[in-house]
Amino acid sequence: MDYQKRRERLAKSLKEAGGAALLVTNFVNVTYLTGFTGEDSYLIVHRDGELLISDPRYEEQIAEECPGLKTFIRTPQVTILSAAIDQLRLGGWPSLLVEADTLTLAAYEQLKEKLPALAVGGSRGLVEALRAIKDKDEIAMIRVAIEVAQRVFTSVRATLRSTQTEWDVACEIDRVSRQLGATGTAFKPIVAVGSRAALPHAVPGKQAMSSAPFVLIDWGAIVGGYRSDLTRVLTTGKIPPKFPKIYETVLAAQQAAIAAMRPGVMVSQIDRIAREVIEQQGMGKRFNHGLGHGIGLDIHEAPRLGKNQDRPLEPGMIVTVEPGIYYPGFGGVRIEDDILITRDGHEVLSDLPRTLDENRVELLG
Ligand code: ZN
Ligand code: ZN
Repeated sequence: MDYQKRRERLAKSLKEAGGAALLVTNFVNVTYLTGFTGEDSYLIVHRDGELLISDPRYEEQIAEECPGLKTFIRTPQVTILSAAIDQLRLGGWPSLLVEADTLTLAAYEQLKEKLPALAVGGSRGLVEALRAIKDKDEIAMIRVAIEVAQRVFTSVRATLRSTQTEWDVACEIDRVSRQLGATGTAFKPIVAVGSRAALPHAVPGKQAMSSAPFVLIDWGAIVGGYRSDLTRVLTTGKIPPKFPKIYETVLAAQQAAIAAMRPGVMVSQIDRIAREVIEQQGMGKRFNHGLGHGIGLDIHEAPRLGKNQDRPLEPGMIVTVEPGIYYPGFGGVRIEDDILITRDGHEVLSDLPRTLDENRVELLG
């Protein structure tokens, strides 16, 4: 991964934003800009370079993960904020931007009080805007995270037993993910049987696989810090008469949205396309969340695919497309895949079977 290049691009956008230096306090942004995977560390990026501020616990890890990076290791007696204030004073920059989405109000006030000569202003999304466009190393890593997640699903699906609870299956996803080379699951897996699938963020519980004829599984893997995010609904028994129409509508909405994805198309337009397919079947009100989101070092990152988002798709974005239809008391269907925007269109990175027929399984006894 070319961290130097990322910091150079940030320095450029910093200049455009009118700041002499940026204090990066979002730990994920620090990782993105340096390759350092620990936490509790800040990064100062300025026009001529950068400085990582960390503590003795991480000294060795930093030397290993970020050889050559300018680093200041504070003593444990000094807080990270005080250490940053000292370094900012030494740096002597005339103006500073801070990350308004992570720096607390208390820290902001302390900065202003201790550095009265420094013009401190808030900024939003400077690093996140860079993160929205994946470079080739990130794309390669996300491909692996998707590949691992798909192998996890295939394995868990093949051994699904009638007595397994949602919780058991979630644990199995966790175990197999690690076994197949992931550092962990990208988020706590959702395993929702029957009516529980109506909750877009259901927490796995005691319901057995055999207690309803379908199960929604939303899962992902982390590889090299990068995350994948997929959803499939498996049918395990005699499905209710209205189920196929719900399933086919979700799938048609997803496929219509994906087909329209290419650089220049507004994300709100992609959301609209999916929503219209569902509205045409009279189920518009049952699709009550955004269509998708970027994935990367975080499970939800820019860009968001939703009604009120007005940015165009750009090459290098990797986003989920995950329409869903939910009926309280009955259940729900969501189908989620990960899509890369290419120079002239898109590439669907995930390829687990999507049709209703292909997602039918016989539970083992
Ligand atoms: Zn998901
Ligand atoms: Zn998702």
